[in-house]
Amino acid sequence: MPQQDTYDLVVIGGGSGGIAHAQRAAEYGARVAVVESHRLGGTCVNVGCVPKKVMWHAADIAQALGDAAAYGFKVEQGPHDWAALKRARDAYVLRLNGIYESNLARRNVELIRGRARFLGPRTVAVGELVLQTRYVTIATGGRPILPALPGADLGITSDTFFELPARPPRIAIVGSGYVAAELGSVFGALGSEVTLVLRGERLLRDFDPILSETLMAHMRAQGMQILTKVTLGGLRPAQSRSPSGELELYLPDGSPLGCYDSVLWAVGREPVTLDLDLPRAGVTLDPEGFIPTDPLQETNVPCIFAVGDVTGREALTPVAIAAGRRLSDRVFGGQAGRKLEYHTIPTVIFTHPTIGTVGCTEAQARERHADVRVYRSSFVPLYHGVMERKPRSEMKLIAVGPEERIVGLHVIGPGADEMLQGFAVAVRMGARKVDFDDTVAIHPTSAEELVTMR
Ligand code: FAD
Repeated sequence: MPQQDTYDLVVIGGGSGGIAHAQRAAEYGARVAVVESHRLGGTCVNVGCVPKKVMWHAADIAQALGDAAAYGFKVEQGPHDWAALKRARDAYVLRLNGIYESNLARRNVELIRGRARFLGPRTVAVGELVLQTRYVTIATGGRPILPALPGADLGITSDTFFELPARPPRIAIVGSGYVAAELGSVFGALGSEVTLVLRGERLLRDFDPILSETLMAHMRAQGMQILTKVTLGGLRPAQSRSPSGELELYLPDGSPLGCYDSVLWAVGREPVTLDLDLPRAGVTLDPEGFIPTDPLQETNVPCIFAVGDVTGREALTPVAIAAGRRLSDRVFGGQAGRKLEYHTIPTVIFTHPTIGTVGCTEAQARERHADVRVYRSSFVPLYHGVMERKPRSEMKLIAVGPEERIVGLHVIGPGADEMLQGFAVAVRMGARKVDFDDTVAIHPTSAEELVTMR
């Protein structure tokens, strides 16, 4: 006889969204279980934001070491010890896994280890265990995809990037999204020869061109190669023992594109739904395999919700967390109608330099509004004043209507990551250009440019 247990809420997936949602529900007194098949914390903690940001810090230090002489330091730069950094990073992530587990226990959320699948809309199985529940939330996230090309499995993805025991001297990164840009930036700063392979013409093509064009110029200036408009045929072991790498990317006619020690595919992510047995619960998917929900995070089955990357909305940790918490506020906290509004979501890209963006691009603003005014600023930050390396920071404010309401704010330059959060509050509140102008600048900073544009 399988063991049975009864809950108010079973959450499938112990990542950013699932954990936040479960904990908030338990705080309201619900009996909650989280089912997790891998390590607690999901993508963000184990193979996403957290270890990626550690690598970004390493890249940042590498750049600062390069700049140190201009500030009068005599720094002897030895080789970077990738393995030591990996050990420290892995230990930090392991500590976070433990903290997540004790946080669940502290809030009386039951953690069930294993792979969950549906037996019915209110019945979930984990191995032999059968869970009966009033509600189920699917928070199973996504995973990186490999392209449908011969030899693709010889390459790595963002998941296996974090397993690399050593830094490959030559790496090709295929893709144009933020993962390609961020990891390319890390490898470049730490000393790899980086080739970015793009199908189109620009990196970050969904972002305002001021960001993608400036980033591409900076990356090229840092010595990275960016190949555009490339259609690939596949990946194979290098035909001769090439001194420049063991793997060869080739074009559709079989001719070689280049040899590399490692090839990283950053060509997109897919939702994790396949082994959930969703038909037994009656949950339907959209054509791309995501679980569509209404604005209240409800799937087509009223007692089953979905949050986070699996829903196909903005794939960001704070989005998954906010959706999960608001869902618990509504269902268990008596806050009728509480939901996440999926607009004006700020985003940072951890490249060198960083990018911060909130609101619409200039092209989107012109599609939506007749009256658009664009303000720009381009300058060399004071930090670079004393050295030869002089990368420019670029900023753009997009204002609409007679009131000049700010609907887009885009920054590339050092500090953009930390600058953006406060400006995102202002944009979300409907700030006008005059509100920016009337705010006294903080000097000397890069951020002051945003309140002094004319
Ligand atoms: P996940 O965190 O992916 O969690 C899903 C969990 O469900 C996993 O732990 C999985 O094991 C589990 N699971 C799946 N199926 C089952 C099953 N059947 N049974 C039991 N468990 C199951 N976002 C940011 O905001 N900032 C960043 O800087 C950032 N950097 C990123 C860098 C990289 C390289 C990547 C890949 C992503 C990054 N993201 C970043 C995105 C962020 O990691 C995700 O948006 C976020 O983790 C999504 O949370 P989630 O809860 O939807 O899913």
